Amino acid sequence: MEYKVQCIGVLTSGGDSPAMNAAIRAVTRAAIYNGIKVMGIYRGYQGLIDGDIRELTSHDVSGIIQRGGTILKSARCAEFRNPEGRKKAYDNMQKAGIDALIVIGGDGTFTGARQFAQEFNVPIVGLPGTIDNDLWGTDATIGYDTSLNTIMDCIDKLRDTATSHERVFLVEVMGRDAGFLTLNAAIAAGSEAAIIPERASVLEQIEEAIGQGRRKSKNSSIVLVQEHAIEGGAQAVAKIFEEAHPEYNTRVTILGHLQRGGSPTAQDRILASRLGIAAVTALLEEQRSIMVGIKNDDIVYVPFSKAIKQQKDIKDDKWTAMHILSI
Ligand code: ATP
Repeated sequence: MEYKVQCIGVLTSGGDSPAMNAAIRAVTRAAIYNGIKVMGIYRGYQGLIDGDIRELTSHDVSGIIQRGGTILKSARCAEFRNPEGRKKAYDNMQKAGIDALIVIGGDGTFTGARQFAQEFNVPIVGLPGTIDNDLWGTDATIGYDTSLNTIMDCIDKLRDTATSHERVFLVEVMGRDAGFLTLNAAIAAGSEAAIIPERASVLEQIEEAIGQGRRKSKNSSIVLVQEHAIEGGAQAVAKIFEEAHPEYNTRVTILGHLQRGGSPTAQDRILASRLGIAAVTALLEEQRSIMVGIKNDDIVYVPFSKAIKQQKDIKDDKWTAMHILSI
């Protein structure tokens, strides 16, 4: 007998990212369009464990496409990492009549989803919702473009004050283990250097950055530091800078959670809308344990195992571009 999904549960998990709301809206409306009921699960996997689940109507997702954050709230849920927690989650899912899940989050969210799907034979489709753009198999993740623009705006503002005071500004940028935000923001904002984890020897990168500041003998420079490129982040780099060149007047700016907020860009809203609809289509096509992504402007399905495990490359030409353009 042919099986058709009748009730989808949707949740947002891990760090929030701009346009998660646009994705929730798209999932909800695409499901309703296809005659499928939608249940909103609050606070990620925690809501599944606590039974914090409510039906979403088309009206519930009105007026949210322009809002940052997530109306479903998000959480990091330790209990879901153990089998007892996942059993509770499964029982609540059954109780709510949910027969498939759409999870919006990053690699941790997909790792949990994969485990859950294996244990309980649940159809799950993932949407890449993270500012870090660190998932393999998709050119972009939901929220990445907005975050990149936010970082660029912040650096533009810092530039004004840096040039007025003849200083070296070290700006710490998010990204978990990936340098996409840092390198692309460096190019977009015309930074003098960027320090990212993907390139060999962070110390060499720091030396290079110091040299760059000196070579220009410009009074000010802006160096972006990926948060985990070195233990201690931008503060640690500042220490190395000052020891090597006490004549430098360094200042550290940690952009922090500013990078996650704000109204999503058009690009992110469109991406989230397309991927949200595609996730529902994927479930109707009986796809499971896959992430829906975008490649060369086409929708693609990527197995969770690949999206999580494989490393996405930093393009060499971008790395070179930053160096050429900062002479
Ligand atoms: P971001 O990239 O924004 O940090 P993320 O999805 O990677 O998002 P995590 O906190 O790593 O964020 O993961 C989100 C949630 O997924 C965790 O709080 C936990 O509930 C679940 N999770 C992560 N790893 C596992 C795992 N190995 N087994 C079961 N569940 C997991």
